[in-house]
Amino acid sequence: MAIHIFNTLTRQKEEFRTEEPGKVRMYVCGVTPYAPAHIGHGRSAVAFDVVRRWLTYRGYQVSYVYNFTDVEDKIIAASQEEGIPWKELAERYTESYLSELQALAVLPPTHMPRASEHIEQIIALVQRLVEKGHAYVLEGGDVAFHVPSFPEYGKLSQRDLDQQMVGARVEEDLRKRDPRDFFLWKAAKPGEPSWESPWGRGRPGWHIECSAMSAAYLGEVLDIHGGGSDLIFPHHENEIAQSEACTGKPLARYWMHNGMVQVAAGEAETEAEKMAKSLGNITGLGETIGRVGGAALRYYCVAAHYRSDITFDEKSLEQAAAALERLRIGKQAVDRLAQRAAVKEGAPGLSDLRETAARARADFEEAMDDDFSTPRALAALHGLVGAVNRLAAGAGADFAVSEEGRRALLETGETLSSLAGLLGLNLEARGGAHGLEEDLIQVLIEVRQQARAAGQYGLADAVRERLAELGILLEDRPEGTTWRRG
Ligand SMILES: [Zn+2]
Repeated sequence: MAIHIFNTLTRQKEEFRTEEPGKVRMYVCGVTPYAPAHIGHGRSAVAFDVVRRWLTYRGYQVSYVYNFTDVEDKIIAASQEEGIPWKELAERYTESYLSELQALAVLPPTHMPRASEHIEQIIALVQRLVEKGHAYVLEGGDVAFHVPSFPEYGKLSQRDLDQQMVGARVEEDLRKRDPRDFFLWKAAKPGEPSWESPWGRGRPGWHIECSAMSAAYLGEVLDIHGGGSDLIFPHHENEIAQSEACTGKPLARYWMHNGMVQVAAGEAETEAEKMAKSLGNITGLGETIGRVGGAALRYYCVAAHYRSDITFDEKSLEQAAAALERLRIGKQAVDRLAQRAAVKEGAPGLSDLRETAARARADFEEAMDDDFSTPRALAALHGLVGAVNRLAAGAGADFAVSEEGRRALLETGETLSSLAGLLGLNLEARGGAHGLEEDLIQVLIEVRQQARAAGQYGLADAVRERLAELGILLEDRPEGTTWRRG
């Protein structure tokens, strides 16, 4: 089965073929660490972590570069505002972001370069662009990329000339030859970080940093270049212009962009707003992880397809936590069934379980190969959990399985864990004493089921009510009983 990826460049799904067989070179634009990260950053990191995990599962050797833009206008402004050195400010927010990514179970990328550590490569790239006539030096020591020198400009964002004029961060500057020209190098201003260059002291512009760092770690042609859809223009358009003008080769074979996280606007407003600091709508990543846990937030991220925009609200976060809990309980249920003594044959539903698990895996793989459709992959997992729950619900007090049945149950549990693990969801996770509590709740659910099966409805209701008093709400569904905290 071939993997298909939606390529922003062509606006269609294409079969995934790498430049070099078996190897994937993947570059994703990380964050500018000038303020606490918000959920949108976490979502992007999770989306590409899933891509990386899936390609690895499919046998590719993945080199994954995720960068930090630590030299940028916003960092300089924030450091002056807070009165601390820019490097210290950037490192502080980088460190806190990294611990948040860890809480989200994002695997460490192969390389996490900082722009400030690649000034030499950046200067070399700017120099090549000047030599080739794609860039020019302005009075005062700035260097700008000349957009008309790259006729394909606009091919990624599919913006025509008018839209480029409107959409670009048009910096009024009469020294520029074209209003769309953008800075590769900025002459030093007092109090700002600066480095020696052929054009005097200065610092790099934002876009050139990514062109230089991706080439430094992954070479001239990337298999996948990713980032948020808000980066398509001008950032990625500019990266293409810089890199391709220099090498004459496509910068990336596939361009992947994750959708935005939006916040439901106030009642007076009708449209959801983009979650961005400039719009004043922030849902802090660290704060949200502290409130609901990294695993629930990760589930929330993968519950939607990476390309769709999602509107953030508390209710969907709660639903994500409950859905994750359902998978974990399903895993526990199948493990418990497997522990029953191996004496009897023919428990209802058991004979089909292996087949059901195999089908779930096939559905999961098909979904993920189809542009990483995590919602469909999750549906396959929940389908399998449903089968487990039906089996558990039909298992009376004397339920027991043969050795063969036990193996089928263990394999089903393994299928659940390993597939969930490919999405970065750990079904074994138990926080200390928390695990025992969950086990005890499960024991009570089973006692209640047996009471009902025996017609002892008074006892069954008493179990439910006593649990409800403790804030544990049972929900009877066709596939079995689940619980949640009320
Ligand atoms: Zn970038």
